[in-house]
Amino acid sequence: MFGFGVLKGMLVTIQNFFASYFSKDHLTTVQYPEERLSAKERYRNFPFLVYDQAPEDPRCVACDICAKECPPKCITIVRDSDAEGKPLKRPKSFDIDYSICMNCGICEEVCPFDAIFMDHEFELAEYGRFEDLMYHKDRLLKPNDHFKKIRPTDATRIDAKLAAKTQKPAPPVGN
Ligand code: SF4
Ligand code: SF4
Repeated sequence: MFGFGVLKGMLVTIQNFFASYFSKDHLTTVQYPEERLSAKERYRNFPFLVYDQAPEDPRCVACDICAKECPPKCITIVRDSDAEGKPLKRPKSFDIDYSICMNCGICEEVCPFDAIFMDHEFELAEYGRFEDLMYHKDRLLKPNDHFKKIRPTDATRIDAKLAAKTQKPAPPVGN
């Protein structure tokens, strides 16, 4: 019947309106910031870098793939090098301009080393429009425990994958 959907929707609204006086389950809003809804696991905001043991030893090997694939080009990486100038598999600097990042998650998808993931952090307002929103390596690096906390399903899967990779292959069986 024409208009039945509208009537049905209004009925749900009216039911929730009166029921909310008796049970909080019927409230569709929360009193932010005193009350907060927990983010869903697949929620994504801005990227962060993961380290396992220490921030000086991040998973990132400075391969630059994420920077190349980032659509608005807001990632800048400089590879570290030793005293002789030989390149090392870690970033000397790793910057993401959060004022440009469009939260697409492509950096996470293309990283072959599971080193960059989308965070749940959203309270990032700053007074400075430019440098304050330029996130350097020290602000981007977070422990794997943080990843486990916000996205346990993905973190468990990736930990298992990395553990399998580091396991030594079984010795060949002799004849
Ligand atoms: S975060 Fe991943 S894709 Fe980006 S430079 Fe590091 S290892 Fe490469
Ligand atoms: S989320 Fe998208 S825009 Fe932001 S740094 Fe990653 S690839 Fe770039």
